[in-house]
Amino acid sequence: MLSFWEKNSFVNYDHIVIGGGVLGLSVACEIMEKFPERQVLILEKGIFPEGASTKNAGFACFGSFTEILSDLKNLGEKKTVKLVSDRWEGIGLLRKRLGDENIGFLNYGGYELIDDRHSGSMSQLGMVNDKLRHIFNEDVYSRENEKINEFGFNPEKVTSLIYSRFESQIDTGKMMRTFQRYASSLGINIINGCNALSYSEKENYVNVFVKSISADERITFSCKSLTVCANAFTSKFLPELKIKPGRGQVIITKPVKDLKFKGAFHYDEGFYYFRNYGNRIIFGGGRNLDFEKEETDEFSSNDKILYDLKEKLSEMILYKQEFEIDFSWSGIMGFTENKLPFIKDISDRVKCIVSCNGMGIALSSFTAREALK
Ligand SMILES: Cc1cc2nc3c(=O)[nH]c(=O)nc-3n(C[C@H](O)[C@H](O)[C@H](O)COP(=O)(O)OP(=O)(O)OC[C@H]3O[C@@H](n4cnc5c(N)ncnc54)[C@H](O)[C@@H]3O)c2cc1C
Repeated sequence: MLSFWEKNSFVNYDHIVIGGGVLGLSVACEIMEKFPERQVLILEKGIFPEGASTKNAGFACFGSFTEILSDLKNLGEKKTVKLVSDRWEGIGLLRKRLGDENIGFLNYGGYELIDDRHSGSMSQLGMVNDKLRHIFNEDVYSRENEKINEFGFNPEKVTSLIYSRFESQIDTGKMMRTFQRYASSLGINIINGCNALSYSEKENYVNVFVKSISADERITFSCKSLTVCANAFTSKFLPELKIKPGRGQVIITKPVKDLKFKGAFHYDEGFYYFRNYGNRIIFGGGRNLDFEKEETDEFSSNDKILYDLKEKLSEMILYKQEFEIDFSWSGIMGFTENKLPFIKDISDRVKCIVSCNGMGIALSSFTAREALK
């Protein structure tokens, strides 16, 4: 049972945010930056944020060339160009809020490996540059085939290499710890290990029910407004929004002797991505090999995908070079039906934001700002 003191000082807030990932933190900070006198609480079910934000690869990216081509086909020009612009703006907001040093921001540029299957699309490089020029004020992509050998890639598998000087990488762990510290410095309360079970709206407030981890009782928090930023786990509260979970597998190598490249690399319409972290390589993706099995919110490995990632490392990326895998992990993304972020007012007091799909580092700051306009 809660004490008088707990009831008095711990359970009532102006705003509660469910979910302590990069989006939940962005939303909470956006509120406090605008209204410093308010009481804001983040409820996070994991000991650490437990979805995608501490599991990702740390690309500060806005879309690779073949991914943008695919988006142009599926979403149309207006939505695709807006998505790139929003991601680009979002990266700028994140950098401004937390500082480059504090998020391990490194601008080594980004590359896309093109194989035989996509070589036909190279003729569309100029068209894509034209469509994005008003965002970057210059060609965003250029061909840099001479780097295929310099980087040590297998030239039989990689037929072209596309470069963008605008792409960067961050240290995901450092960014999230900095974000939590920044949120605390604004006066935001974050309670970890706090699984929100459900909520219920009253006339002037919203109750959020949480199961205590230490006792078999439910604790009720109350707020004037609630924002659900539970990403892949949104359907627990709002099944009608049809957010699908999508698991991503990641492997990391031990430091590679004389690693020949630095940067953020994409392959196959963004389905594969790898980057250096010092002399290690972080390599993820391959969901398209097993979409069905990876449409889950359970954190576990997929042998078929891990095998494929290791094979691509040895046959294409670290071709004829020695390397050892250190370990692997998985993270869970949330996917909207059309890949676009959404901000939905469920009622006057409850909002749901699912913004990020596979690019939350870029999009969350932008979407949180839009949501609070
Ligand atoms: C393997 C992988 C690689 C990726 N690589 C990149 C990349 O390089 N660049 C990039 O921009 N993006 C990348 N992404 C995507 C990016 O990580 C996500 O878009 C972003 O982290 C989403 O942030 P979020 O806050 O919306 O969701 P999440 O980080 O999933 O946060 C949601 C939070 O809500 C919590 N929660 C859920 N239900 C409850 C509940 N009932 N009660 C309390 N808390 C709850 C969860 O524990 C979780 O911490 C990657 C994702 C994965 C999985």
